[in-house]
Amino acid sequence: QLITFEGLEKVGKSTQIRHLSVWLRSQGYSVTVVREPGGTMLGETLRGMLLHTVQIHSPHAEFLLFAAARAELVATVIAPAMAEGHIVIVDRFADSSVAYQGFGRGLDVKWITMVNQQVMQGIEPDVTFWLRGPSFARGEDNMERQDEQFFARVEQGYLALAQANPTRWQIIDSQRPVEVVGQDIQSILHHMWS
Ligand code: C5P
Repeated sequence: QLITFEGLEKVGKSTQIRHLSVWLRSQGYSVTVVREPGGTMLGETLRGMLLHTVQIHSPHAEFLLFAAARAELVATVIAPAMAEGHIVIVDRFADSSVAYQGFGRGLDVKWITMVNQQVMQGIEPDVTFWLRGPSFARGEDNMERQDEQFFARVEQGYLALAQANPTRWQIIDSQRPVEVVGQDIQSILHHMWS
């Protein structure tokens, strides 16, 4: 099982992922949690570059770096963990590139989707939780320093993805108390798996 979390920055994805992994482990599941970009030596290095050390001017270059991080993460962590029967939870995945580099930066969504498919080696998320709500980003890194219109386009991207694949996408209102959001996620999974 592959579970992905999507949404704007600082909507509570990592908090929910932490709670979900604790709950799943308490139910006896083996769980692997990773974030993207990150999760591998290459991914964490690229994350540092993308978010902090390098000003990237070409949206194509930006996408290809995210894609490189994704390729390494799939090949060395996600695919092996899934093969061992783990539930894998990813903080952002291929859909982030469609939303951010496609809708946000205006790159060709077909090209992004094509590269994503190659990189994912046939792996598709079983469920994607979109924590939908306003971003609480404070411009702390390169990627957070975008204007409001950029984030509005990203939001539109998520909406288009969710509408195109309503069985996989679960839209979660992030503006509720953390425990309520967590209960919502647990009960969706409980229903899916029973
Ligand atoms: O959510 P997290 O802070 O881990 O994401 C890192 C940053 O990278 C976010 O600001 C997000 O907007 C950005 N990002 C991106 N395109 C992706 C994935 C992440 O712009 N494909």
